[in-house]
Amino acid sequence: MKIGFVGLGNMGAPMAQNLIRAGHEVTGFDVAKVEIDGLDMAADIPSLATDKDVVLTMLPNGDILRAVADEIIPNAAQGTCLLDCSTVDVASSREVAAKAEHAGLLAVDAPVSGGIGGAQAGTLTFMAGGTEIAFTKVAPLFDIMGQKAVHCGEAGAGQAAKICNNMILGITMIGTCEAFALAEKLGLDQQKLFDVVSTSSGYSWTTNVYCPVPGVGPKSPADNDYEPGFAAELMLKDLKLSQQAAEDANAPTRMGQLATELYESFVSADGKGRDFSAMLPYLHGRTRS
Ligand code: NAD
Repeated sequence: MKIGFVGLGNMGAPMAQNLIRAGHEVTGFDVAKVEIDGLDMAADIPSLATDKDVVLTMLPNGDILRAVADEIIPNAAQGTCLLDCSTVDVASSREVAAKAEHAGLLAVDAPVSGGIGGAQAGTLTFMAGGTEIAFTKVAPLFDIMGQKAVHCGEAGAGQAAKICNNMILGITMIGTCEAFALAEKLGLDQQKLFDVVSTSSGYSWTTNVYCPVPGVGPKSPADNDYEPGFAAELMLKDLKLSQQAAEDANAPTRMGQLATELYESFVSADGKGRDFSAMLPYLHGRTRS
């Protein structure tokens, strides 16, 4: 396929490289100076958008996505698929899809799970929203960049699935960290708590796979001085998106709100640039008040 790729940062660059390795003809654009082997860079977005089967975006937020889409849509050929893999708010995602479809394009929102490691290894999980025709068109690209793609529903459904998943993840990580921090204050050995929880009803991905305690459980960012992994500020971004969506939908998400507040405090203290599981040392340094 002829693919345009806008946003070649931590995630976009390795995803584009995997598409090139698989034999696709990829042209890139980024506002930052980026050089990638085998990737031709376009001078601007309008010239990138013409004559492509798919234009893929991997951008920081919904405002930037909307601005970039406004440059892609009028310049893309009929039938081009606008594939957005960024994590953005559901409303922006739906707005961009509606504009694209109105102009005779296809649109898929497909945020990812799996982080930079998954982008490099081509093992991302994609959560996709859009029509069946649009999903089918880009499905071969998901097979290259990832190991699983779930078609979740119409436009915006991928973003909805992503923020619901990450709201569970943020809440669960805090619960896990609170339990290990409490255990320490109770004089309970961290390894013993892991042995119990990981095989009991309190088990979860955050304990069993990604344990926030150094030296306990499988290797995780905690064993690498909390180098991300999944950075705390990205978790905060996703939690904020979940609360924005919950506001719009008038959905009760008290725990999601508390998790957002706690990650906000952690990130503005010393969490920026650390893995989101460094919530544990943050809690260790605090008292109840
Ligand atoms: P990043 O900041 O490394 O990359 C974003 C890129 O977009 C940058 O290179 C930036 O220069 C470029 N950009 C910004 N504005 C632009 C514009 N107007 N036109 C063209 N390029 C522009 O971010 P990232 O870590 O690669 O994340 C990208 C998206 O993926 C985000 O939405 C993020 O939430 C999501 N995500 C990230 C991770 C992760 O672990 N990094 C995991 C899952 C999802």
